[in-house]
Amino acid sequence: MTSADWATKDFYKVLGVSKDASADDIKKAYRKLARANHPDSHPGDKAAEERFKTIAEAYDVVGDPEKRKKYDELRTYGGGFGPFTTGRPGGGGGQPFDVSDLFGGAGGGGGGFSDLFGTVFGGGRTRQQQAPRRGADIETDATISFLDSIEGVTVSLRLSSEAACPDCNGTGARAGTVPRVCPECDGVGMHAASVGGAFTMNETCPNCRGRGLIVDDPCPTCHGSGRGLSSRTIQARIPAGVKDGQRIRLRGKGAPGERGGPAGDLYVTVNVSSHPVFGRKGDNLTLTVPVSFDEAALGAEIKVPTLTGAPVTVKIPPGTPNGRTFRVRGKGAQRGSGHKGDLLVTVEVHVPAVLDEKAKEAVKAYRDATAGSDLRGNLFAGGAR
Ligand SMILES: [Zn+2]
Ligand SMILES: [Zn+2]
Repeated sequence: MTSADWATKDFYKVLGVSKDASADDIKKAYRKLARANHPDSHPGDKAAEERFKTIAEAYDVVGDPEKRKKYDELRTYGGGFGPFTTGRPGGGGGQPFDVSDLFGGAGGGGGGFSDLFGTVFGGGRTRQQQAPRRGADIETDATISFLDSIEGVTVSLRLSSEAACPDCNGTGARAGTVPRVCPECDGVGMHAASVGGAFTMNETCPNCRGRGLIVDDPCPTCHGSGRGLSSRTIQARIPAGVKDGQRIRLRGKGAPGERGGPAGDLYVTVNVSSHPVFGRKGDNLTLTVPVSFDEAALGAEIKVPTLTGAPVTVKIPPGTPNGRTFRVRGKGAQRGSGHKGDLLVTVEVHVPAVLDEKAKEAVKAYRDATAGSDLRGNLFAGGAR
């Protein structure tokens, strides 16, 4: 309830009463407006909530004879007047002022606001309204690189949520103006319409479309809707070993709670970009390595890359078939407990597309040396044609 332009606020106009309205008239006007804009009748409607606050703020001042007197004096003499400067000496017009001081040090956290529920709607509801409420959970997504998914990374996430329009505080009226009470329904938002005979039924007031208030001069930012977006950027830690498509829960990083309730959680769906060389299978990394026929046949020690460290040497035993997989322990993805997965190296025997004369002679010599072995003999066993 801190407001820099509070001195320019016309609390009488907010309540739709004249400056010399009786205390009783002010109370009546307030009740009508408060009922019409009560958050219970507009669940999730931030604009209504803001209107309700504006109305409550106005009534808290002009509904109290002593505060009303001071307010009237202030409106007459301008900003910086005596008791309202709250320790800011020097006077002068338009100083910032914390309205919560008016409410007996409610702390600005809406204490004065929630007290009003009890006054208007009876004690039964008060407790429920004042109960702390947990903030909403928020869903978002983030795209990270393959390497970051293995090592873990801190990302900046921009979160947007619906909030009251900052320029009109959710009233929908141009800054410096206030909505007026709808004269058709007296701010109730509903009409009792006769449907013949003795029967009547309530219908939404067509003049204000159920809002109870008329905005003559709409806020140019939100075009009178009172709704806006608030966005904030947070830093979120994506743990090492996260998989593509995995949904991560960040406790307490969601929307802030109300009345001292805990914040909601933030759920981040992580998209992991693919890597040109490495793949992922559970906690293991995969790598396909070409080997030559002679390496597979005679055996070899081959050097292969790892994702995060120095290359390692893999021993290929003589007679290794195409597609065999070798395991390099501890060179895979991080597991939650601090253990690491393995690197799975799969060999792919390479057949040269072109052979030079010398190599061709050597392969022919190899063929002569292995003549007599029939690779496909088994396929024709058992009567297959
Ligand atoms: Zn109306
Ligand atoms: Zn606005």
